[in-house]
Amino acid sequence: MTRPTRADLNTLRHHNRQVIVDIMRRYGSLSRAELARLTRLSKVTVSEVVDDLVAEGYLRAVGLGTAEMGRKPMLMAFKESAGFVLGIEVAPRIVRLIVTDLMGDVVATFEESGVAAAGDDLIRALCALISKARTHLPQSRYGLMAVGIAISGWVDFAQGVVVAAPNMTWAPLALQERLASCVHVPIIVDNEANAALAYEHGHGILRDVDHAVYLSVGYGLGSGMLMNGAVYRGHKGMAGEMGHMVLDPAGPLCTCGNHGCWEMYSSEKALQRMMSGCTPALTVNEGDLTHWAIQQARQGAPCARQALRAVGRSLGQGIINIANLLNPQTLVVGNGMVEAWEFLEPEMMAVLSQAGLSATTQDLIVTPSPHYQDAAVRGAAALACDAVIARI
Ligand SMILES: [Zn+2]
Repeated sequence: MTRPTRADLNTLRHHNRQVIVDIMRRYGSLSRAELARLTRLSKVTVSEVVDDLVAEGYLRAVGLGTAEMGRKPMLMAFKESAGFVLGIEVAPRIVRLIVTDLMGDVVATFEESGVAAAGDDLIRALCALISKARTHLPQSRYGLMAVGIAISGWVDFAQGVVVAAPNMTWAPLALQERLASCVHVPIIVDNEANAALAYEHGHGILRDVDHAVYLSVGYGLGSGMLMNGAVYRGHKGMAGEMGHMVLDPAGPLCTCGNHGCWEMYSSEKALQRMMSGCTPALTVNEGDLTHWAIQQARQGAPCARQALRAVGRSLGQGIINIANLLNPQTLVVGNGMVEAWEFLEPEMMAVLSQAGLSATTQDLIVTPSPHYQDAAVRGAAALACDAVIARI
């Protein structure tokens, strides 16, 4: 038998720390004996790791537990305020930022509209926003530990590069590298639908689900896929661009350059096009479109009702294709158009029941995201948090 190398021992030590941190974050407070039982690690190993994590400020004693007889055990808990992370969502027209602790609890939120949409100006604007958020971090041992960024665009996840953001007319941008000039902590960049999916899986309605799709129906149409309990990103991190599946090559021109993409029928952009001839005429900015359409539809305006219902039907048709391709257990609809759920859902479900294959759609749960407006920014923070935890 060969002796374990120093690298082997370091790997084992890191693994044991990760197991203990994971259990502590899930269970709240535990004694060392309970930790040993749950992790199946020896009491000696648990005690060593716990002592290290206490010294490093990641665990803290929270009081005495109960005991049938003898000494009451000291209960330990994960110290969620050991440091903080930022989650940032860069969407068309708006940048959202949240500060969370290491358990994902939000401690501050910021929003900036009219942020420069590309290049050097965007980098400067993001650096200024991050710097402002830093002044709102609560006092802690480690301060800012990571930044997660969710983008409505095509992201090379491994490289942290935004390859393109058609709805924001971006040229390729090495966001991770460029932001490193003002942020000296790990930076994670992901597509906004993937980030929202990560949030729902880690903290939201997909916690106990292994096969799901998150459809982000906003100005564009993005998606994230959960397969076997993990976000599926594909070869270069760009999987899930379902909004650009071509449904009709003779259809309207999409920002990606093709014609008749699904996004052109199932998004705020589609709503805008369908309502361009409506009376009363469209008088609002893009960002307020869904809200305005809902108001009109609730007042009985036929044009707004027809447009919203058409979006609902198109969503239903696309969901059938997704169900046939991936057979998810749950499909979550998120982002701004969820506000119009009362008009979208009946049409969507009617199409599903009329045209869906029973094998793939019969048991499919289609549900709106309870955090439809901020799942992406929460997801960005969750990705940052995951990066911090993985390094403990
Ligand atoms: Zn397209």
